Amino acid sequence: MNWVRLRACRSLPEAHLVNTALVRAGFRSEVRGESRVPLAGEIPFSDARVEVWVGPEYLLSATALLAEIDAAGEGAPHACPKCGEENPPAFELCWRCGADL
Ligand SMILES: [Zn+2]
Repeated sequence: MNWVRLRACRSLPEAHLVNTALVRAGFRSEVRGESRVPLAGEIPFSDARVEVWVGPEYLLSATALLAEIDAAGEGAPHACPKCGEENPPAFELCWRCGADL
């Protein structure tokens, strides 16, 4: 069973915030891509992001928890004007495509 990527985050703190919440909820979860963070700005955005991965058996419940975490943020998530992906209210750039929000 392969692990699955739950979310790609713009920043290390956000990835750890999500990961910590997942671990506390009892899921198998980990942050991947941390070693690429110091290179952010020197390499393409899509290669620099930090990702949160979960065990496949947790994908559905972890996605639901993630929605709760997002909902707990200030205001409502806003959709990216470019790709339509929903982003947490605090985000200034789309986590998926990097467009200004
Ligand atoms: Zn986007």
